[in-house]
Amino acid sequence: MSKYTIGVDVGGRSMKFGLFDDKGKLLDKSTIPTRTQNQGENILPDLTDHLKKIIEKHELTKENLTGIGLGMPGPILNEKIIKTAVNLGFKDNVNVADYISERLDFPVKVANDANVAALGEVWKGAAEAYNNVVMVTLGTGVGGGVILDGKILAGVTGSGGEIGHMPILEEPLEWTCGCGGSRCLEQVASATGIERLAQDYLFESEEESSLRDLDYIDAREIFQAAQDGDDIAVKVVEEYFENLARGLAIIAAVVDPEAFVLGGGVSNAGEFLLDGVRKAYRKLAFPVTKDVKFSLAQLGNDAGMYGAAKMML
Ligand SMILES: [Zn+2]
Repeated sequence: MSKYTIGVDVGGRSMKFGLFDDKGKLLDKSTIPTRTQNQGENILPDLTDHLKKIIEKHELTKENLTGIGLGMPGPILNEKIIKTAVNLGFKDNVNVADYISERLDFPVKVANDANVAALGEVWKGAAEAYNNVVMVTLGTGVGGGVILDGKILAGVTGSGGEIGHMPILEEPLEWTCGCGGSRCLEQVASATGIERLAQDYLFESEEESSLRDLDYIDAREIFQAAQDGDDIAVKVVEEYFENLARGLAIIAAVVDPEAFVLGGGVSNAGEFLLDGVRKAYRKLAFPVTKDVKFSLAQLGNDAGMYGAAKMML
């Protein structure tokens, strides 16, 4: 009998459920809203009720369902407990895995959402050919996931893969990162980071730039202006590439991965981003790690659901 697995991506706005076969084929997908009010008291009951519906609809049993994997936004201990999750309203340690397995009687594992997204890309996305991969999500913040020998590196406190908070800057910035630091990779390599950098360049120089005509400068417009040859935008993206590359070169010296996968909103800059980061990376990286592959994430918002399901196989 073929084996099935369920993957759930629990986000601050919605929860996405996927039923997969053991080859990674998505058979059924559904979404419900995440009700975060009252410290997220409805989240686990809603989650369990919806899982029950999926189990009944597809007649899933202990014989044909290997288990339920969940990706959640926070540090996870022992594949069970979420320590804190501001986005869900959770405060203290919540044992998500035991809550669900006690009610549904299936094996349950929980992992951090960025980590399961990385595992998803390794299973069925940009890094399908590889087993040792670092995924970097370049969005409002910078998230990451490290996959070694096909498994998530979660770390002792559940903070494995928090590469956005590597203190890569020699001089602290005048503003503080969400983590309390002021030298973080996230501060310079996120979409927010490149927007701030562009504003600094425009403020400090009198040079002409197409960016000056815009009411609000976002990352997409900066990359576009750089590709169109705008001098200030070119300087901004070069500094951006160098900062990101420094972070990746440091990671490569520790992890020595086969591939880096870049995802998140900034990765819409596509090949231009890959080329720029790759060039800057090759200048900084330890010699034998220079030829690591760079790819763009392929699964988008579904990556977490895929990776959560893969954990159970
Ligand atoms: Zn930080």
